[in-house]
Amino acid sequence: MNLILLGPPGAGKGTQAKRLEQAHGFAQVSTGDILRSHIAAGDELGRQAETIMATGGYVPDDLMIAMIETEIDNPSCRNGFILDGFPRTIPQAEALDALLKRKGLKLDSVIEMKVDETVLIERIAGRFTCAQCGAGYNDTLQPTHVPGICDVCGSQHFTRRPDDNAEAFNTRLEKYRAETTPILPYYRANGLLKSIDAMLPIDRVAEQMEEIVCETVKAA
Ligand code: AMP
Repeated sequence: MNLILLGPPGAGKGTQAKRLEQAHGFAQVSTGDILRSHIAAGDELGRQAETIMATGGYVPDDLMIAMIETEIDNPSCRNGFILDGFPRTIPQAEALDALLKRKGLKLDSVIEMKVDETVLIERIAGRFTCAQCGAGYNDTLQPTHVPGICDVCGSQHFTRRPDDNAEAFNTRLEKYRAETTPILPYYRANGLLKSIDAMLPIDRVAEQMEEIVCETVKAA
């Protein structure tokens, strides 16, 4: 099954994509994570993306479209994929359609994660990640059980994203409103769009995701 998760920064796309990956074996394709790995590697794409990402801008469509093509060809996507962070613009959505058609693939569902914008800054500003296993936490909303120690792997090393600050967040939200929300009617028009309440606790959001996956399987 091939899914897209859409929602503003802080909606919980990454958290839910990881759950779907574990539950169903669909590969999480997070364009933000892939770009961050290019930055860490210090390669040409990483150099081009780094300043844009730090300020909350969008990396140019042509670079993102080329990246997604490479990712979808990855054998890990053979059982299906969950796009987390792509498409973010109408040209990206159109390019994705053309790409999937060329490869004889299709989208099964586009899930919009609806959130009240007022909670997003708290979710984003307090966010940190285990540097070893990637488990996600939040200073106030989801701290580690023992302060300074990862619940999952026991590591004491954590990272924070450079774009998880108020200024970059405002730009990211503006970009989301201006360039990404126009994708919603695009997918509504072809009957793929489903919306869920992403204000609920993580487990309740995951249940709504599962319902959509089950309905989609039945409808296939
Ligand atoms: P994310 O981890 O999804 O929040 O993405 C972090 C940052 O990576 C975004 O703020 C953009 O700068 C960049 N990025 C990720 N995906 C895309 C995309 N599809 N189009 C343009 N820029 C992207």
